Amino acid sequence: MTGNSIFRPAEETATCRWSEVPVLAYKETDSAPFREVTRQVLFEGGPLACQLRYFEVAPGGHTTLERHAHVHGVMVLRGHGHCLVGDRILSLATQDLVYIPALIWHQFRAAAEVPLGFLCMVNTERDRPELPSPIELAALRADPAIAAFIQT
Ligand code: MN
Repeated sequence: MTGNSIFRPAEETATCRWSEVPVLAYKETDSAPFREVTRQVLFEGGPLACQLRYFEVAPGGHTTLERHAHVHGVMVLRGHGHCLVGDRILSLATQDLVYIPALIWHQFRAAAEVPLGFLCMVNTERDRPELPSPIELAALRADPAIAAFIQT
């Protein structure tokens, strides 16, 4: 997205799409487990030291269960679902804001019948996500609610 200063929502669809913004795979590699997620990079580079992405999780889908030293600032734009943040499972609806602190396990899941679309702001320079080891997964699953929620 260069040249213009404003990009309107694409009019032919009710979904969150923007002109000149390609819809990408959620992750570059398929080494991390996830299901039915797309990624659009809305702002990055230049004088901004951050990147603003829009992720959309299809009904029943989920992002990767992960943690990392960088933080996320999230705003839900569409649909609803839940997210795990540390030891809490939060219900998510449109316009909710979620802050994911450093080194906290997190995962987003769409509701069964509707997608979950959210903006996610990150630093441009950031570490790679880490997946839970078998020991860490067992520790997470010690909480029955978390065991029922997480997808790996
Ligand atoms: Mn993350």
